[in-house]
Amino acid sequence: MAAAPPVHPADGHDLLRVHGARENNLRDVSVELPKRRLTVFTGVSGSGKSSLVFGTIAAESQRLVDETYSAFLQGLMPGRARPDVDVLDGLTTAIVVDQERMGANARSTVGTATDAGAMLRILFSRLGQPHLGGPQAYSFNVASASGSGALKVGDGKAVHKSFTVTGGMCPRCEGLGRVDDLDLTALFDASLSLNEGAITVPGYSTEGWYARIWAGCGFFDPDKPVSEFTETELHDLLHREPTKVSVDGINLTYEGLVPKIRKSFLSKDVDALQPHVRAFVERAATFAPCPACDGTRLSEGARSSRVAGLSIADVCALQVTDVAAWVRGLEEPSVAPLLGALQGLLDSFVEVGLGYLTLDRATGTLSGGESQRTKMVRHLGSSLTDVTYVFDEPSSGLHPHDVERLTALLRRLRDKGNTVLVVEHKPEVVAVADHVVDLGPGAGSAGGTVCFEGTVEELRASSTLTGRHLADRTPLKAEVRTPTGVLPVRGATRHNLRDVDVDLPLGVLLVVTGVAGSGKSSLVHGSLSREVDGRPVVRVDQTPIKGSRRSNPATWTGLLEPVRKAFAKANGVKPALFSANSAGACPVCSGAGVVYVDLAVGGGVSTTCEACEGRRFDASVLEHRLGGKDISEVLEMPVAEAVGFFAAGESRVPAAHAVLARLDAVGLGYLRLGQPLTTLSGGERQRLRLATAMASPGGVLVLDEPTTGLHLADVEHLLGLLDRLVDDGTSVVVVEHHQAVVAHADRVVDMGPGAGHDGGRVVFEGTPAELVADATTLTGQHLAAYLA
Ligand code: ADP
Ligand code: ADP
Ligand code: ZN
Ligand code: ZN
Repeated sequence: MAAAPPVHPADGHDLLRVHGARENNLRDVSVELPKRRLTVFTGVSGSGKSSLVFGTIAAESQRLVDETYSAFLQGLMPGRARPDVDVLDGLTTAIVVDQERMGANARSTVGTATDAGAMLRILFSRLGQPHLGGPQAYSFNVASASGSGALKVGDGKAVHKSFTVTGGMCPRCEGLGRVDDLDLTALFDASLSLNEGAITVPGYSTEGWYARIWAGCGFFDPDKPVSEFTETELHDLLHREPTKVSVDGINLTYEGLVPKIRKSFLSKDVDALQPHVRAFVERAATFAPCPACDGTRLSEGARSSRVAGLSIADVCALQVTDVAAWVRGLEEPSVAPLLGALQGLLDSFVEVGLGYLTLDRATGTLSGGESQRTKMVRHLGSSLTDVTYVFDEPSSGLHPHDVERLTALLRRLRDKGNTVLVVEHKPEVVAVADHVVDLGPGAGSAGGTVCFEGTVEELRASSTLTGRHLADRTPLKAEVRTPTGVLPVRGATRHNLRDVDVDLPLGVLLVVTGVAGSGKSSLVHGSLSREVDGRPVVRVDQTPIKGSRRSNPATWTGLLEPVRKAFAKANGVKPALFSANSAGACPVCSGAGVVYVDLAVGGGVSTTCEACEGRRFDASVLEHRLGGKDISEVLEMPVAEAVGFFAAGESRVPAAHAVLARLDAVGLGYLRLGQPLTTLSGGERQRLRLATAMASPGGVLVLDEPTTGLHLADVEHLLGLLDRLVDDGTSVVVVEHHQAVVAHADRVVDMGPGAGHDGGRVVFEGTPAELVADATTLTGQHLAAYLA
């Protein structure tokens, strides 16, 4: 239990005070948080936790840090609006450790994103034989060491100038570790002219900027089919070196498609690209490990130098637990402090449950939870104190066994004199809080108030939803379903899988368990591909949803279509009028509701459109009503309210009602129909996809940690939903750590016994009751303890 005495805000004078916070749904929230303590924020999904912790406290701290930069630097950074709050005091610099994926730069690896890579380079420059020179002789990339995006505040990231020191970099692949071959025929349709849309590269549409550049640069005739281009024209289109041109009085740089694509798509991790860009890259480019460096990214010299028999590339290809053993074997007094620091860093990896990663793993391939824990590693060794660390569900992706170590780490950060704020749902994490703030009572407009503030003991005794659920235990089911079939998996070897043979039960709720890195995703994603026995496989994950800034739940789910028709019918006008991206759009913001200014450096700034006041439609469109509401008011409605609105009366729209009922069922009742998809959390995106998948039962549904972002009360709801899906004939396969979900399973496949090369086997397959009785697996032991 917590070493520090619980501090009640009333007795402390050292407080972080929030007064009158009103971001999003917050209703004049005031809280006093004890500094240098661990505070956990609880509450149902949509209750306002992120709005308070990230949107108010962390946002204001970041804004204040920005203000300390010179006017010149500030001019280059996106402006931040002050959060809607009356008073915030006692604030210290906030460091946000979230689940956002790390650096899309293909040169960014786990080694470069932490200090491990830099420390190894120093080590090799001191001890390597033959001796090559300073640390840069072992570097394939210097820029990414500071560009991984882990530190959101105070790293001046926005003005970071990328430079690469060529020292130890493989000259052939320039440190990427791979070479590419572009299929030029995938870039254009030769039968068309540029103005007809010959270019088939994402982002190069005929309405975009590039069309204007092609038309204005003077290198070719935009109305001539590409097949009739002269050799020079074709060369200019595909390969021309950067050349200054003036288009419509604006000075720009023109560059051929091939170098442009290399820079903007191929130098990034394929996994980190948007789905439509990824599809293009997969179609147009083939990658092979660089033949010169064998994929190690290092020059020949850098690969030849060895310490205790291993080159730096060899060390980076070991999993962290093995690197730690190798470092322990080095006895070299001259570098003892460095070895100590490196050992400490590697131990941090193990402590956060990442001992199975290799340092050469591209950061773009890490899951959200893995990314967050990698960022955490960067801070554990830091000597900063009196910082406010802000975590977003740090337990996600972690087995109960790993959660114990995680909570120890959070306490260690606190004991170094930092204020630790954590948004979490898992009772194991809530249990170690010094102070708990519970938001609610409901979601959206039914939330936004502080229902409880105090110690965990006081929370348990309270009558709040969270308090009541904290001691809840989902029991094993008296009767589990019998599989209707199996998917035989034979000789699976993806990643760490050890020639796995297993029959995955179908027609049931199957939960795949195991510690982080044991091989759950490798098994599930490797064996459940597009189709199983003629049933489509639908993967419901948390990755960003493709779409423009104008996309929202109403457009994405298609429910707006029938609503537009109903508006048109009721008013005797055309449906297109009610579309925010065509006829009826506000002419100033083109229906975005915001005016977005792209900056050359550091992203962009958006402000509410003054013409339509964010309503997105032309004033004349808003005169048309359905059931008393205009289209903008409809888009402002939360799902739960819209379900009723479209159920009956003049505004009855059965097709929209059906979609809304599913959105409500997955726990998104608080979401406004017009809320931009870009503002949804990973968990919300996953539930949105789940609602869509529910429309066509009968397939195989694969979910990756669907409890992310869900309160214990929401988890029960989710389980009911999964039950209904299985009863309707859907096979549900869930990768989960949440004990309630494991207990509720029909069948469990447990991977392990450990992570990385210590995992990769199926250690158990059977019912949850058998898993508990078996008691030889970590998962079984933890489930038994949970049920006790
Ligand atoms: P929690 O973190 O507890 O899940 P949030 O703070 O994310 O809750 O959300 C609280 C409410 O504010 C919800 O109704 C949500 O839909 C809304 N909301 C969150 N972010 C935005 C945003 N960027 N724009 C508009 N509404 C938002
Ligand atoms: P889990 O889902 O149980 O956390 P994973 O299937 O993600 O486990 O990982 C199992 C092993 O495979 C780990 O050693 C992990 O580092 C490795 N691995 C997973 N994804 C990749 C990848 N994209 N590239 C290389 N190794 C990977
Ligand atoms: Zn190379
Ligand atoms: Zn507008």
